[in-house]
Amino acid sequence: PRNIYGESRKNSAGLDLTNISVMAPLSRQMSEKAEKHWKAAPIIKGRDADGKVEDVRNPANHEEVVGQVVNATPEQALQALEIAAEAHFSWNATPADQRAACLERMADLMEENTAELMAICIKEAGKSPNDAIAEVREAVDFCRYYAMKAREDFSGALKLPGPTGEIDEYELHGRGTFLCISPWNFPLAIFTGQVSAALVAGNCVLAKPAEQTTLVAAAAVRLFHRAGIPGEVLHLVPGDGAKIGGTLVPDRRISGVAFTGSVETARLIHQTLAKREGPIVPLIAETGGQNAMLVDSTALPEQVVRDVVISSFQSAGQRCSALRILCVQEDVADKTLRMLSGAIGELSVGDPAWLSTDVGPVIDPEARDMLNGHINRMESEGRLIARAETPADADKGTFVPPVAFEIDSLKRLQGEVFGPVLHVLRYKAEKMDKLIEDINALDYGLTFGLHTRIDSTVDFVRRRIRVGNMYVNRNMIGAVVGVQPFGGEGLSGTGPKAGGPHYLHRFATERVISIDT
Ligand code: GLU
Repeated sequence: PRNIYGESRKNSAGLDLTNISVMAPLSRQMSEKAEKHWKAAPIIKGRDADGKVEDVRNPANHEEVVGQVVNATPEQALQALEIAAEAHFSWNATPADQRAACLERMADLMEENTAELMAICIKEAGKSPNDAIAEVREAVDFCRYYAMKAREDFSGALKLPGPTGEIDEYELHGRGTFLCISPWNFPLAIFTGQVSAALVAGNCVLAKPAEQTTLVAAAAVRLFHRAGIPGEVLHLVPGDGAKIGGTLVPDRRISGVAFTGSVETARLIHQTLAKREGPIVPLIAETGGQNAMLVDSTALPEQVVRDVVISSFQSAGQRCSALRILCVQEDVADKTLRMLSGAIGELSVGDPAWLSTDVGPVIDPEARDMLNGHINRMESEGRLIARAETPADADKGTFVPPVAFEIDSLKRLQGEVFGPVLHVLRYKAEKMDKLIEDINALDYGLTFGLHTRIDSTVDFVRRRIRVGNMYVNRNMIGAVVGVQPFGGEGLSGTGPKAGGPHYLHRFATERVISIDT
């Protein structure tokens, strides 16, 4: 394999939360920040707009109000679009170097404000401190990485010498105004990733965060503005997806949509873009996964169990990359499942602000009810392997204890189950080929895990499995910007790799100027 980057690029160092001299002052700062009520509102031309105020509650404790949100009206969304559409020409004409410098300042500002950003992620999204620091790190990495790529690819024209005898030059430009629709499960990282990529490629942006995590998004937009992104160029239009998306997506002034969320919504956006009048524009969609891990009889059981628990239950399983289907070779299944059952029984579920908590709440009552509905079905269709204990005051928040079921066929699965529920399937060694075919036939293609100590099995599987990210002898979450570009195919998305070398190109249009000499 080639090494396509220079050696100088570095990822954010983050913070070592196991070090008490780091964690103690950070905890103090986070508690101080959490005492203030956070506020979010539509941010149009750099200013907060007025509207009806709604409370935001902590998913781990619904009695705790952590802030207030004002959602955008369709009129406000259209007003933001009009301003953005007018600002595009001058933003796209701003040298890529200057746009990149704004992203680099944004990265620095996020690092300076780590404690507050973490506190909002914990209180609004139910993130654990470890997940929250990972959010900040990834957001910082996206900004620095896309800044670097923009300097490389968007700074001036590329001369293409050749047989024409003319001057032929190739340039990348922003497309216009991007609508960035981001999910609640990575309220800072994915939000910042989409927005920073669109901006640095020369687009204006309307950012529509998931309704559940508007406070994080507003904090990020304020930092983007402080970092030098003009108010006319980036606007926050929070609110109901159907209402805000339904107003903006059909509008011909939207020049592209970046979306991370459900397959159903991605389809709806696709259809709306296809049917509307005006330009044909791209949809950059990252959707769900139906992710499997294959464990053969040569795998190391302790390592398997550790990686399965991380992959399935970290972030309460609310990652697109999370493991949903563990496939264990029959010969080692009983032993592996016994060990797994012990490990699940040890997981502590509770308020993620406590360091002893392994698994925090799921995002909201709707998610909890959907998961419980699936778990009820599995209780009759599958065999319970293990379930973590329910916390004593579970009713205060939306907790779903991690659970694993053995199933007899992939046909038992009806679609992505976005939470801490693992399905386990035994397979016979001679049926591995067929199993991989069946996994491909689920039509998703995001992540895949393989535990084996046989090199030829790795080669065999990597040639057959259709996924965007395959992980061997490790867990299968937490792709690292710049080194593990992340994104899938099939039902998992339109294929762009966030944090990858070609991501910015998806937000750009290519132009060639040919001059007769
Ligand atoms: N990039 C994340 C990971 O590798 C997952 C992103 C998502 O859930 O959308 O775990």
